Amino acid sequence: MVDVYLGLGSNIGNRAEQLKDAIERIGQLNDVDIQHVSSMYETKPVGYVAQPDFLNLCLHVKTTCTPEVLLEKCLTIEKDLHRVRKERWGPRTMDIDILLYGDKIIETDRLTIPHPRMTERAFVMIPLNEIASQVVEPRSQKTIHSLVQSDETVVKYEG
Ligand code: ATP
Ligand code: CA
Ligand code: CA
Repeated sequence: MVDVYLGLGSNIGNRAEQLKDAIERIGQLNDVDIQHVSSMYETKPVGYVAQPDFLNLCLHVKTTCTPEVLLEKCLTIEKDLHRVRKERWGPRTMDIDILLYGDKIIETDRLTIPHPRMTERAFVMIPLNEIASQVVEPRSQKTIHSLVQSDETVVKYEG
């Protein structure tokens, strides 16, 4: 079993319900066991800013799936939750990114792990730090705790 960290985000529809639905679907996958779920955080969109605020959270799972198979399963859950792909970084009902897959560094056409933008994204690092503070990010060889920076635009969401 490999320790994997996933980053989930939603900014259209009932965001909290959709996140709970995605967690349930991930939990029902064969070969994937959920270990920890972070709090939800409400975050302002970055980059393409003319869209609704996101809810984000991170998951720790253990899996026997290869990274490619896990990506396929995540993309299927996104589709099942009615994600429609229009512009990149646009609004979406569900986004599931593979942040870390054990200590592996992977660069293929379909997959870059660790997720290439995770360390600069407070909406990833703040929830991830809740459940993985002592985990080492393999490119920098630094712990999540030492990489996370506070950001007042990422606010814990109490529902
Ligand atoms: P970002 O990657 O900047 O967070 P995004 O999540 O909006 O942007 P998507 O449109 O969801 O991007 O994903 C496009 C493609 O990115 C996916 O189809 C997948 O092949 C690829 N991809 C590469 N690395 C990863 C990863 N670590 N996790 C998930 N998808 C990845
Ligand atoms: Ca993403
Ligand atoms: Ca994605």
